[in-house]
Formats: sequence, C-alpha cells, structure tokens
Amino acid sequence: MPVQPIRLFGDPVLTTAADEVTTFDKELRVLVRDLTETMLDAPGAGLAAPQIGVSLRVFTYDIDGDVGHLVNPVIGTRSDEQQDGDEGCLSFPGLAFPTQRHLRVVASGFNMYGDPVTVEGSELMARCIQHEVDHLDGILFIDRLDPVQVKASPHATRGLAV
Ligand SMILES: [Zn+2]
Repeated sequence: MPVQPIRLFGDPVLTTAADEVTTFDKELRVLVRDLTETMLDAPGAGLAAPQIGVSLRVFTYDIDGDVGHLVNPVIGTRSDEQQDGDEGCLSFPGLAFPTQRHLRVVASGFNMYGDPVTVEGSELMARCIQHEVDHLDGILFIDRLDPVQVKASPHATRGLAV
C-alpha cells in the first residue's frame, strides 16, 4: 500500500534529524511516491519523510495544486519580512496555532532523479517549506511557539496542515 500511516507526536522519529539522501535509486522514487500519495490522502499541504517513519531528507508539497518534492533541501534565502497565520501539522491531528514564519524563502535541493532544483515560494509555499525543513531537522512546529500561547490557544485546524 503506497498510503502509509502518519507518525504522531511522541514518535521518536519526529524528533530525530534525518539523514541526507546519498543514492538516487528506485527506493527513493518509491519513497517520493508513497509520501505524495499519503499527503494527498490525508489531505495535507506538505509531508516530510520522517512523518511516515523514514529518516531521510525528503519532503513533498501540494500548494494550490502545485504538487512537487525536494530531496536534501537547503533554505538559502529567507526574507526579512515575516508572515503570521495558522499552521497545523499532520502529526498533531486537529490542532493549529498561529505561527510566525518568513514570508518568502528559496530552497535548493534535488529531484528524485538527482537533478538540482530550486523551489521558491511565498506565503503558504514558504510556510510549508520552512515547516518541512524543520521536520528534517527533528524540529516540530510547537518548538517554534511561545509555550503560553500553546496552552492558551489551540483550535481546530483551518489553515495549513503539513
Ligand atoms: Zn508537520
């Protein structure tokens, strides 16, 4: 089954820094397919490999129908300008918190065939990239929040779930 169970908060894979992909083989292409199908099934706007239990630096995104993936992503440029907005995470079902992020970012990495690619985004795409790269570093969005805010203002996911 290509759709995989999504790992939930408390699973140690979510707080472990993921490894660089070194081999661009069929196994990687299967991982990208599984990630994409699991994300679309959820549905979510993005999904990182550790969220399906694979500790590799790969994530997928689906922002307004723009579906793609990035392997070994590195955020090279972050705008000084910030954005506010609700952010959710598929590993925290039903929860969303206002989370500050950079408004625009540029990330470089590779596609599943090993070709260099650059993904540039603002607003939701930028939020998704920052959230997913955090996942690959073992950082969860609640780590970005003020603890008082987490206690005071959980509410149902309406915004991005990634
Ligand atoms: Zn997430």
